[in-house]
Amino acid sequence: MSILEKKRSVSSLVNELGFFVSRSGRLHKVSSIVEHGDYVKLLMKCGQCIIVRDSRQSRATRWLKNKWMRKPCRSCKIKSGDLSRFMIKY
Ligand SMILES: [Zn+2]
Repeated sequence: MSILEKKRSVSSLVNELGFFVSRSGRLHKVSSIVEHGDYVKLLMKCGQCIIVRDSRQSRATRWLKNKWMRKPCRSCKIKSGDLSRFMIKY
């Protein structure tokens, strides 16, 4: 492994954290992840399905790496212990 930090993709970050932050900054708990080539299909606990490019340099990877969120998804019912790992970004 290189000394330089390996750039992680959306799928690797979601696999590691178990969460995803939508475009509006809403934090969702991910219940399943399916990789389709350059894209990943994420099924959230609340039933929402989001398809994103499995990029290493995107809004989603930046938010996940920094553990930022605007607000948690109420329907995903995220535990406070999990929420405390994230920081609210205004
Ligand atoms: Zn949700």
